Amino acid sequence: MANTWIIAVDPQIAALVEHGRAVGGSVTAVTVGGTPVAGVDKVIDVALPEGVPAEAAAPAVAAAVAAEAGDVVLAANKPAERVLAGAVAAKLNAAFLPGLKSVKAGAAELSRYGGLSFENVTFDSPVVAVLDGGAEAEGEPVAAETTEGSVYDAKVTGQEKTEVVAVNLGAAKRVVSAGRGFKAKEDLKLAEELAAAIGAELACSRPLAEGADWMAVDRYIGVSGQIVSPELYIAVGISGQIQHTVGMSDSKVVVAVNSDSKAPMFAGADYGIVGDLYEVLPALTEAAK
Ligand SMILES: Cc1cc2nc3c(=O)[nH]c(=O)nc-3n(C[C@H](O)[C@H](O)[C@H](O)COP(=O)(O)OP(=O)(O)OC[C@H]3O[C@@H](n4cnc5c(N)ncnc54)[C@H](O)[C@@H]3O)c2cc1C
Repeated sequence: MANTWIIAVDPQIAALVEHGRAVGGSVTAVTVGGTPVAGVDKVIDVALPEGVPAEAAAPAVAAAVAAEAGDVVLAANKPAERVLAGAVAAKLNAAFLPGLKSVKAGAAELSRYGGLSFENVTFDSPVVAVLDGGAEAEGEPVAAETTEGSVYDAKVTGQEKTEVVAVNLGAAKRVVSAGRGFKAKEDLKLAEELAAAIGAELACSRPLAEGADWMAVDRYIGVSGQIVSPELYIAVGISGQIQHTVGMSDSKVVVAVNSDSKAPMFAGADYGIVGDLYEVLPALTEAAK
């Protein structure tokens, strides 16, 4: 039976666990530095000395992932995890599957050309994929067995913070996303108020982040931005061009608010509100309080 291995540097692996369950066998997490993770069958933790970056544990992580023929190795698409996944793929001489959408024992569906088409592949040797890790897996952290593997001699010698606060939209369960239907930057407070009322993260279409500079670039959704799959995605004043929708089409429930009843966003929405966002948003916020 094919098993799944998850490389985890933080607890946000719910989507990876879900894919692992679809594979069918056991799901083992290889964590670094005592990261607590839930939802898996077993945890092997690679001990990490104080001040050593997770990437330095690449040889130890590669040694701990004992994937066999047909096994699937998954990691969140984040900087440290990408390094570790690469080390595992090299050690196992495993194929790397970019754009993984779904996987089961021996077969996977991959997204191609930014989600415009899909490719089905089959495999009978170990494969490695990085993808959106999702939210924190629910439940109590699973007790870990610790392994002392080989760790590169690296130390963090300094840190420089950027002005932009990094946001992990991939872990958000609810997202309120703003588009060019907003006439001014100050008006985004309407979206912020709705997001605060329902416990959502704020996101946007690309023009609001690149061009208008109303929001940080790590908040725009789409083929060249963030890919999200929250439980609830509320698209406000977003027309629904393909470059945007490929970034959110895996959302569980989509609500579209748009004054144009013919906006393409409505085609992929579970609920549509045809109306002026300047009237609809305050009403939604009030109702959610
Ligand atoms: C190579 C390439 C890559 C791209 N990558 C991305 C990407 O990753 N992400 C992305 O988002 N875009 C991307 N784009 C841009 C994309 O094609 C669209 O131009 C963009 O998504 C449109 O943003 P929007 O929906 O906010 O604006 P618009 O298309 O201008 O839509 C605004 C919407 O607001 C509605 N509206 C107006 N006033 C109101 C009101 N008062 N109340 C309610 N609704 C109102 C309008 O009816 C309209 O539907 C990319 C484009 C290219 C060429």
